[in-house]
Amino acid sequence: MKIFVVGGAGYIGSVCAELLLNEGHEVAIFDNLSEGHRQAVDSRANFIQGELADRRQIDSAISSSRPDAVMHFAANALVGESMQNPSKYFRNNICNGLNLLDAMVSAGVERIVFSSTCAIFGPPDRVPIDETAPARPINPYGESKLAFENILRWYDEIHGVKFVCLRYFNAAGASGRFGEDHHPETHLIPAVLQAALGKRPNVEIYGTDYDTPDGTCIRDYIHILDLARAHILALGAAGSGRYNLGTGGGSSVRGVIESCRKITNRKIDAIEKPRRPGDPPRLIASSDKIKRELGWEPEFQSLDAIVESAWKWHQKFPRGYEN
Ligand code: UDP
Repeated sequence: MKIFVVGGAGYIGSVCAELLLNEGHEVAIFDNLSEGHRQAVDSRANFIQGELADRRQIDSAISSSRPDAVMHFAANALVGESMQNPSKYFRNNICNGLNLLDAMVSAGVERIVFSSTCAIFGPPDRVPIDETAPARPINPYGESKLAFENILRWYDEIHGVKFVCLRYFNAAGASGRFGEDHHPETHLIPAVLQAALGKRPNVEIYGTDYDTPDGTCIRDYIHILDLARAHILALGAAGSGRYNLGTGGGSSVRGVIESCRKITNRKIDAIEKPRRPGDPPRLIASSDKIKRELGWEPEFQSLDAIVESAWKWHQKFPRGYEN
C-alpha cells in the first residue's frame, strides 16, 4: 500500500514508517520538523517538509501523493505543557488535524490511522481500562485527542472516511535505528537514561503521595515496535474502530528508575518533587479488543526489555539526533 505518514519524523512516526518500509509499503512522510528530526526520516521514504497549519500545503502533498491511507502522528503530546498552554494543543491537535481530514476528503483518501492516547480517559474508575470506560480527560492534551476522535466519527458518517484510533498508553523503547529524542526531554524513561548518561544531574519524581503501593504514578509502558505493529494491523481493519493499546502491566515511577539502574548498571540519583498537574495516578490498558479483532499481541512484555532497547539506542546516540 501507499501510506502517507504525517509526523513521520517524530518518535513514534519514524518507527512506524521504518516498519511499513520493511514490509514493502511505499511511504511518504509529511513533517514540519518542529518536534521531529530530519535524521529520523527513513531514507527509503519520500520526505515532504510542510506545515499542517497551511491547508494549501497539506492539500498539495496529499493530492500529489494519492495514498491509500494516512497515518496521523503529528501532534503536541505533553500533558504538563498542555496545562500551561491549552491553545497550542487545541490549535495544533484539532484545527491543524482538520486540514488533514479536509485534504483527505478532497483527494478521496478514505482511511486514517490516528494516534490517540490514554489521556482521553482521565482517572479511571477501574483498571485495566477498556474501550467502554468513560472518557473524562483531565488535561487539554487528552481533551484535544478526544475531540479529534469525535470529529473522525462524523467524517466517517458524512464523508465515508474509515478511521482506527489507537489509544497509546506510554510508548517507550527504540528500534535499532530510531528512538526517543525530545527537546526538552520530559518523558520518564529517556529522562532517567539521560541521568544514567550524566546528561542531567538527577531524575525528578513528580509526586510521592499518590494512592499507589509506592506513592508514585503507575503507567503501562508499551514497546514502540509493538505499537508500530498495531498500526500495520490497523490498516487491514474491516471498518472504523477505537482500540486501547498497552501491555496490561503497570510500572510505578520508582519501579522505572529501579529498572533503569539495573539495566544500565549506573548510579542514578532521584529527588522527590511535588505532583505534576494533570497526571492521573494509575493508567493501565486492557488491550483485549485489539487482540481479539485485529490479532495484535505484544512481543515485549517486561519493562526491563523495553528499558534495555531504549538504553541501547541512547548509548549508540548519546546526543540523540544532533550531529
Ligand atoms: N515523571 C516523573 N519524572 C519525570 C518525568 C515523568 O516523575 O522526569 C512521571 C510523570 O509524572 C508520570 C510518569 O512519570 O507520572 C510518566 O510520565 P511521562 O511524561 O513519561 O508520560 P505521560 O504519562 O505523561 O504521558
